[in-house]
Amino acid sequence: MRMSRKWARRGRVMVYTGIAGWIGMGLLHLIDLHGRGPQPASDWIWVLGALFFAVMLAGWGVLWRYCRCPHCGAWNIRMPSPWKRGEALHCTRCGVRLEYDDT
Ligand SMILES: [Zn+2]
Repeated sequence: MRMSRKWARRGRVMVYTGIAGWIGMGLLHLIDLHGRGPQPASDWIWVLGALFFAVMLAGWGVLWRYCRCPHCGAWNIRMPSPWKRGEALHCTRCGVRLEYDDT
């Protein structure tokens, strides 16, 4: 059994979207704060924040579900990039070669 490249891509896109959303939201928040002075944040910031947080969590969930070591089940932080072909990394726990299903 190998890791699913399709899900590795989806999971990563979700995590990156979530993080980018947080950064973007932080910037918007600062600009907003600069414009209106020290007032309580508007509701949409919290709604947006919760949304991006949910996307990020879902991304981690997908990576957790589909991108663990096929041999020992360890979740390696350093995974081969799903966009690069032929990149070979080894599991930090058991040392097995980590590959995607179509390589
Ligand atoms: Zn392993």
